[in-house]
Amino acid sequence: MGNLTGKVVVVTGASSGIGQAVAKMAAEHGAKLVLAARREERLSELAETIKAAGGEAVYKVTDVSKKEQVMELTDFAISSFGQIDVLVNNAGIMPSGFLDIEKSDEWDALIDINIKGVLYNIGAVLPHMRARKTGHIINVSSVAAYETASPYAIVYSMAKHAVKNISEGLRQQEAILQTGIRVTDVGPGTIDTDLKYTITDPQMRAAAMQQYSDPEKMLQPEEMALAIITAMEMPEKIAFNTMVVRPVNS
Ligand code: NDP
Repeated sequence: MGNLTGKVVVVTGASSGIGQAVAKMAAEHGAKLVLAARREERLSELAETIKAAGGEAVYKVTDVSKKEQVMELTDFAISSFGQIDVLVNNAGIMPSGFLDIEKSDEWDALIDINIKGVLYNIGAVLPHMRARKTGHIINVSSVAAYETASPYAIVYSMAKHAVKNISEGLRQQEAILQTGIRVTDVGPGTIDTDLKYTITDPQMRAAAMQQYSDPEKMLQPEEMALAIITAMEMPEKIAFNTMVVRPVNS
């Protein structure tokens, strides 16, 4: 048991990569987990793994781009465990490539999942966290949000800049309202996950495969999770508002 004993943590995008690693580690540190993503089998497996290790976890199949489903996720978390202490807004996709109108459905999906999904989740938990005068909202943006625009991934970069901007606006808003809610924007560098497979453009995908081939130049999801859990475990008065997490020498 660790510093998260008794805390209820909701993780979106918990079916793989960073979200899965955060969920597992939070459970190891004593938290009760609410797992969300679209792939039920993977959520169910993760919940079983956490329970087999002595932890507590429930899951709900959720498409974060659907407001109703996100509202239901929040209700489900509260009815399962009575409260939500931490929301990890992690679900995301990364289709990349030069701007091409033929790919406008990918722009739509990116905006719906990576931006609106984050907003819906924040909107859903805010009334509950405000009523309790405590809570922690962690938005996973990207190193792309902390760099200037990318010619190879304009829409992804735009979406992640939006997430960072939402995080900072939310931080200021909750400070004005004195709600006690902490906000953290996390910008991961290159992390060894399945995210690269959401790239459909063959050239960009080949470039990403290259980028994601050197173990020295990327972090494992568990290493990224460690940084996120560290932010969660800070004493309540301390808020890590922004964190950019890259492997050393990259
Ligand atoms: P993965 O592809 O491993 O995980 C993405 C997760 O998002 C999956 O669990 C997926 O689950 C979920 N997801 C995608 N679309 C939806 C949706 N509509 N509704 C609910 N869940 C959804 O990639 P990562 O772990 O790398 O990505 C996690 C976050 O980290 C993303 O926001 C990404 O942009 C960010 N990031 C990652 C970096 C990296 O190098 N890996 C670098 C910078 C940022 P399912 O398909 O089951 O719904």
